Amino acid sequence: MVQAAVTTLGFDADDTLWQNEQFFRYTEGRFLDLLTDFGDRATLSSGLFAVEKRNIPVYGFGIKGFVLSMMETALEVSAGRLDPSVIAGVLTMGREMLNHPVELLPEVRETLEALAERYPLILITKGDLFDQERKLTASGLAELFHAVEIVSEKSASTYARVFAARGDGADKGLMVGNSLRSDILPALEAGAFAVHIPHDLTWTYEQVEEPIDHPRLFIESHIRKVAEIVESINGNAGSFRG
Ligand SMILES: [Mg+2]
Repeated sequence: MVQAAVTTLGFDADDTLWQNEQFFRYTEGRFLDLLTDFGDRATLSSGLFAVEKRNIPVYGFGIKGFVLSMMETALEVSAGRLDPSVIAGVLTMGREMLNHPVELLPEVRETLEALAERYPLILITKGDLFDQERKLTASGLAELFHAVEIVSEKSASTYARVFAARGDGADKGLMVGNSLRSDILPALEAGAFAVHIPHDLTWTYEQVEEPIDHPRLFIESHIRKVAEIVESINGNAGSFRG
């Protein structure tokens, strides 16, 4: 008897199920508008990214860390000669991001509803616990998930642990996400299958330079394709040993 190769499906949330990066880009644009006295946009933008990267080990991922990094960047580039209204502006922008309605990507609900009838679905997302819980509730998708894992970092050991605890181990897990760095590479490393669904907007931090070639990797333009992929894997279970 050939046993199904995939029994548990993991899903990233930001820019896989709902829009996220576009709000960061929009806010960054407004932030740069406040700093026109202190440099050109490209330089200020790469300065902000350097501060964000430096702060990830301290603040983790998410909007609150982004707000603190914007403040730090503003103080740095202005050498402290900053009008307090800039700080007030940054706080307002952060609050707006934290209150922004959740905007699902096309066909996400239908796709998850159909898949949830056949497989346990696990939401695996990193970032700020409070904000991710808010977005999940606002998305109306919470009931479709068998389990929700909000983690501080997505590494191979994260996927190994989550698929062991919530499923039948990583080699019978499949991870769906938009980020090569956070969703795809570490899931493959853990031994899972992975479906990369690129989003038009992906944060520089999440990008990977080298193309990835892996027998367990699928690249699709739309989340609706996930059901077909799982069926193709499970229909050919014997031939997938990668
Ligand atoms: Mg994502």
